[in-house]
Amino acid sequence: MRVTVADRLNDIRSRVQAASKRAALASPVTLIAVSKTQPASAVREAYAAGQRDFGENYVQELVAKAKELSDLPDLRWHFIGHLQRNKVKDVLPIASLVQAVDRIELAQEINKRASKRVPVLIEVNLAGEEQKAGAAIAALPELIEAIRALPLLELRGLMAVPPASEDPELTRPYFQQLRELARANEGASHLELSMGMSSDFEVAVEEGASIVRVGSSIFGSRVR
Ligand SMILES: *Cc1c(COP(=O)(O)O)cnc(C)c1O
Repeated sequence: MRVTVADRLNDIRSRVQAASKRAALASPVTLIAVSKTQPASAVREAYAAGQRDFGENYVQELVAKAKELSDLPDLRWHFIGHLQRNKVKDVLPIASLVQAVDRIELAQEINKRASKRVPVLIEVNLAGEEQKAGAAIAALPELIEAIRALPLLELRGLMAVPPASEDPELTRPYFQQLRELARANEGASHLELSMGMSSDFEVAVEEGASIVRVGSSIFGSRVR
């Protein structure tokens, strides 16, 4: 029998719930189904199984899929990829959360183009990996201050993509580090933690993730 998207979603949901119980988390974890490179039909299938939050990495793909799926009410798109300033205007009308703000110029461009408040997360480059996006840990206080000063940005939390590893336990210290960074910078509001992907979302939830971003475990391996 074919394993469906709905089957996989149910499996992920119950594993998220079990991890959340182990960690005695007070609030529910938001599962984002990362649909990059997957056809709109796969998103429809997940939507039919009750999934509402979807993540996309590429602007063109997001715009096309959002258009194709505009008949689905209350579907929420999260932009989780690297965002260039000249693409901000395309993403804002679609994304309910811009997850990977990592520099002041990008935050300023969002503020300039926005017509209403835009919830954002700051992406942190925890291991200082050169090839990866994300703000350096040392640059975080200044970026947080800059975002909080922009009237149309609403800082909701932090996100990270730690170095890939075969063993999710090796990723655990990075999740702990992101949690500590959020705690140190909470200010007035509790910050969300977007961390954990197919290979390590359970460990991320154990360490306090409020948002997990899961792609291949829901949709199967990517098309390209
Ligand atoms: C692709 C991607 C994911 C999902 O990755 P999987 O390993 O397929 O679960 C999550 N977060 C970001 C930022 C991604 O680019």
